[in-house]
Order: sequence, then structure tokens, then C-alpha cells
Amino acid sequence: MKRVALITGANKGIGFEIARQLAEREFTVILGCRNAAAGRAAADDIGCTPPPVVCQLDVTDDDSIRRAAAFVTKQFGRLDVLVNNAGVALDKFRSALDLEAGTLRDTFETNVVGAFAVTKAMSPLLMITDGARVINLSSALGSLESMGGLTLAYRMSKTALNAITRVLSAELADHGVSVNSMCPGWVRTALGGADAERSPEEGADTAVWLATVQPSPTGAFFKDRQPLPW
Ligand code: NAP
Repeated sequence: MKRVALITGANKGIGFEIARQLAEREFTVILGCRNAAAGRAAADDIGCTPPPVVCQLDVTDDDSIRRAAAFVTKQFGRLDVLVNNAGVALDKFRSALDLEAGTLRDTFETNVVGAFAVTKAMSPLLMITDGARVINLSSALGSLESMGGLTLAYRMSKTALNAITRVLSAELADHGVSVNSMCPGWVRTALGGADAERSPEEGADTAVWLATVQPSPTGAFFKDRQPLPW
């Protein structure tokens, strides 16, 4: 049976490109999208045969997550790769002194709680699949070693996502599941903006590498396929 990959936030940007590249590499790709119509349009754009599967998935909605886990269980009974890609940047370049608590909560709801809840819901499937992997779309902006001013909510959310990577990599190691964080670089997407340095193709590279490299590392943080300081 083909390996199965679920990518959250796969209707556009880096998530779409990760899905496209994994489909090219013979994965059965599940596009997790909060807007199913946008997911179907993305599936048409990928255009592989058979087409990618679309699964409605809002990472901030417990019922949606539960339904998605039930769907993957029923349709495939396995999950080789989970890419926690869905993310928001609500305080880009804003001073921490102007940050509202609600913006911090909203950022955490998607980037941290969402990624955790999806991973937890999918963990029974990951644990029964040989060599399964979780890939968390983090950011160098969450690296404490190089942390400077501005964008506090987004930075904190990615630092917290990295903590999820560390803790779950330790707890899932005995089940053969690897968990890693990666930074795609500054990428031209709705989130990254038009002035960003990289194309989505370049931004997807390290995630696709983590989905396929043998043996898989675990509990680490990568950019351009190289370790990045926490
Ligand atoms: P993007 O083009 O804005 O795409 C974000 C994706 O996340 C969209 O599909 C969006 O869905 C989805 N999403 C947001 N909230 C969601 C929710 N509650 N449930 C499900 N999906 C949700 O952003 P991107 O640049 O590709 O970013 C992808 C990931 O890379 C993010 O985690 C981001 O933090 C990370 N990253 C990006 C950059 C960069 O420069 N672009 C740099 C470092 C890290 P809708 O279309 O429905 O809104």
C-alpha cells in the first residue's frame, strides 16, 4: 500500500507545495483544509492520479479534528506522515507593547493547540504505522538563541511548537514515530508576503526531505536540511 500523508492547511502556500511534492513521490496525499471547497480546488491543481483526498479540517475545532481522525482511520487505517503546517501570523512586525492578549490567544489556538490536538488525535494511527513521522512547520523566529524584538505572539507560538516536538519525540520514540520541527525560510505566500526571498517550492524542500529521508532523525529542528539552534 502507498504511504499516506496528511498535510494541514494544504489548500495554499507551503502546505499546498508539500502536498504536491509528496504526491509526486508516490504518497497518497490527504489535503486537510478548513474550507473543503478550497481543498477541492487545490486537489484539482495538483492533478495527480488518483487525485489527492480532501478532508475538512479546522485545527481549532475539536469536532472537525475528531471527524478527520475517524475519516483517515476508516479510509486508510494508517498514517505515515503528518505535516502540521496550518498556521497564522497575526502580529507580524508588531511591537510586543502593542500586542493584545486576544491576539496572543488566537495565535496559540491555531499554531500550538491546533498542532497538538491534531497530533494527539492522529497518534493511534501514527503508532500503528511503521516508521511514521510528524513534521511541524516552525520558524527561525521561534529560535530562542537568535530571538530579538517584535512579532512576540508568532515567535512564542513557534517556540511552544518546538516544545511539542521535543516532548512528543521523546514520548513516541518507543513507538517508532519521529517528530521534528523545520523552518522553511522566508517564503512568498499569503503569510510571508510578496517580498519574501523564497518560492514555495524552496520552502517545502526540508519538510519533504524529513518525510522521506532514511533513517529519520527525531527531536530536532532543521532549516535547509541542516540542524538549527532551538
Ligand atoms: P499561508 O499561505 O497563509 O497558508 C496558511 C495555511 O494555513 C492556509 O491553508 C490556511 O487556510 C491554513 N490555516 C490557518 N488557520 C487554520 C485553521 N484553523 N485550520 C486549518 N487550516 C488553517 O501560510 P504559509 O506561508 O504557507 O505558512 C505555512 C506554515 O509555514 C505556517 O505554519 C507558517 O507559520 C510557517 N512558516 C511560514 C514562513 C513564510 O515565510 N511563509 C516562514 C516560517 C514558517 P485558509 O486558506 O483557509 O486560511
